[in-house]
Amino acid sequence: MTEEIRSKYQAVIGLEVHAQMLTKTKAYSSDVNAFGATPNTNISVVTLGHPGTLPKMNKKTIEYAIRMGLALESDITPFQTFDRKNYFYPDLPKGYQITQDHTPICSNGVVHIKDENGRDKVIRITRIHMEEDAGKSIHDVDVNDTLVDLNRAGIPLIEIVSEPDIRSSNEAYNYLTEIRKLVRYLGICDGNMEESSLRCDANISVMLKGSDTFGRRVEVKNMNSMRNVQKAIEFEIERHIELIEKGEIIAQETRSFDALKGTTISMRSKEAANDYRFFPEPDLLPITVSQKQIDAIKAEMPELPRNLFLKYTKEFGLSDYDAYNITDSKELAMFYEEIINSTTNYKSAANWLMGDVKSYLNQNGLEVKDFPIKAKTISELIKIIDEGKISSTVASQKVFPALLEQPEVSPLKIAESLNLIQDSNEDSILEYINEVIRQNSSEVDRYKNGEKQLTGFLMGQLMKISKGKADPKAANQMMRSVLDKL
Ligand code: ADP
Ligand code: MG
Repeated sequence: MTEEIRSKYQAVIGLEVHAQMLTKTKAYSSDVNAFGATPNTNISVVTLGHPGTLPKMNKKTIEYAIRMGLALESDITPFQTFDRKNYFYPDLPKGYQITQDHTPICSNGVVHIKDENGRDKVIRITRIHMEEDAGKSIHDVDVNDTLVDLNRAGIPLIEIVSEPDIRSSNEAYNYLTEIRKLVRYLGICDGNMEESSLRCDANISVMLKGSDTFGRRVEVKNMNSMRNVQKAIEFEIERHIELIEKGEIIAQETRSFDALKGTTISMRSKEAANDYRFFPEPDLLPITVSQKQIDAIKAEMPELPRNLFLKYTKEFGLSDYDAYNITDSKELAMFYEEIINSTTNYKSAANWLMGDVKSYLNQNGLEVKDFPIKAKTISELIKIIDEGKISSTVASQKVFPALLEQPEVSPLKIAESLNLIQDSNEDSILEYINEVIRQNSSEVDRYKNGEKQLTGFLMGQLMKISKGKADPKAANQMMRSVLDKL
């Protein structure tokens, strides 16, 4: 498709995200909620939908859904009921899903993302409701049969529905990144798209630029990574434009993403499939949420990445880039918080974290929790650099690697035992300077003739002569004044 045709159109996207809640038990029964258990082991009669069994609401799900609602600045619905969404699937033993149709637990809300040009943008949230997962139909293990694992049936889900405010596949990617970050910060979902604990359906339409009437949308399902969501959206945008350019009409339908081909295929037409015959769930009592409960949940909420980002950039003077990367993962942000508990050198703390610490983790394929050195020890390291006891180069090249071997020993002790404490004694620095002048007379002459940039070279020589132990700040100052007096 030519860029000219593509640029005539504007994509419009709304996302529906399902997140599996990290509760110990299922949404409406005491069956264990766990990923990867032997198939069909966490299935009591409730999960199997035996006649006469009754659902019982898991309170933790309500709390988790409210956490998400508060994080998205939503309104929490004080009085909620449940509904049955009826459809037949082999992996849905009851023949219906218990969900919230008319009274979603949260309504309204916002997600803050970056748009195509890196500018701040708000995506409005329509609603969050609670529901339950279906079991899993497995088509690729047995050539002749479809296998059904019901362990997943009844696992609590929240569905987060966005307004059609997203305008490109990149924005969709950024939106999902934020949602995943939030559920992980809140500890309500592991955010693992590969294991399907976070899933996304994308609604996509296109319209002519400048139009205020949205086009006909399709819904794409079955994308198990954020990249695939992006690819599916790109594919759909082009498919829609091509059809419209040919004068054809977009069918309102549900499509499935084929990750191998990078294409989508029609699953069912929307008009025909959408008759779920919702009706009120008679076996679950309505729930009421009081302001007191909301306040209690609010009080337990961790700091959110957005607030941390604002604190780091506005109060600590970190760059947007550093602040974004530190707050990208809760573990990293919490480690940073621990470091700055005992140092006010926020920038240095960020540099250590994003530099030596992160590259050690990356090189060894480790998570923050596996990092051997304590946060407090990193602040001690920063302290002895700031006090001029060791240079940052020595800290990074000598002390840090030694700390990795002996994380229990203090940085100062290590620096002392390796004989790395730097020399800021004026007499010894003067000796180094005199030695530099003796060994580099031609460079010194050129310096005197105006080539001031040679200080860098001469300082290098001095550090070499001092075996890296001269305090570079003090040495630099003295070197200049000695040279200028020559
Ligand atoms: P359904 O039950 O059909 O999935 P929902 O209300 O659950 O309907 O979800 C509708 C989703 O489609 C929302 O995320 C909404 O923002 C999005 N949407 C609605 N109209 C359009 C459109 N014209 N183009 C793209 N997305 C749309
Ligand atoms: Mg939908």
